[in-house]
Amino acid sequence: MGQVFWVFTIDGDWDEYFRIKLPEARRRPDTARLEQLVRAEIELAKVINGRFVHFVHSSPLVPSFFFQPQFIALWQQIEVGGGEIGVHCHEEDLYLAWYYDNQARMEKAITRQVEKFRENGLTPRCYRGGFMTFSPKTIPILEESGVFLDFSCEPGRHLVTNGQLVSDWQGAPENLYRMAYEDHRKPGGSNIMEVPLGIYVERQSLWSIWQKARKIKRRPGKQIVSVLAHTYDFASWQMKLKIRLALLLLKRYGKFINCRQVLAEAAK
Ligand SMILES: [Zn+2]
Repeated sequence: MGQVFWVFTIDGDWDEYFRIKLPEARRRPDTARLEQLVRAEIELAKVINGRFVHFVHSSPLVPSFFFQPQFIALWQQIEVGGGEIGVHCHEEDLYLAWYYDNQARMEKAITRQVEKFRENGLTPRCYRGGFMTFSPKTIPILEESGVFLDFSCEPGRHLVTNGQLVSDWQGAPENLYRMAYEDHRKPGGSNIMEVPLGIYVERQSLWSIWQKARKIKRRPGKQIVSVLAHTYDFASWQMKLKIRLALLLLKRYGKFINCRQVLAEAAK
């Protein structure tokens, strides 16, 4: 039986972003509403001593919405509480075009977030592509940005939308690994460590979460995987309850840590 470490991650997306039939103005988030949801995340994460990552959304629709002072204050509050913020780029025209393989665009989107966070005294250590997108071309961008952890991997994922490949993690390891420069799905010699997805709270029943936790615990050696939820979940008391129960259950099988601690564990 191995030692298990969980990283609880919340992707900072809201419902309307995904409703492409709405006019653009109505797809944008409401400031007060999103503030309220992030506060609910902070409150719920107390059950794991604040050790969570909020992945800050940016996209062509809202490139800098979450840089508003009230959000920066919340990101700082998350860090003070033992959590962290991460970079979460949805570089896409939703369901039509995907730019995760466009190095110039990705570099602009990632460095814009990283620089804004650092200007405000925040320490981004991790990245996750929207829809779990990732390209090997992103590896040098992350290295140069000093963001050494990636959370885009869902082992086995092969997402094709309208005939276009959106996300491919076929054959990827199910435990923390150092990425190969030439293929993000393979272990190798880059400076980027991948924390694969272990538990997908919305998609799995509590029963399936329990079984998966037991399975991960049975694997030999140290296990470091992520647990995924989204900001829009925090609009529903049923989903908040499910997340709380999932976290309490997972605590019985492993320890929740933040990215700083993942990097320390990886270096051991
Ligand atoms: Zn997202």
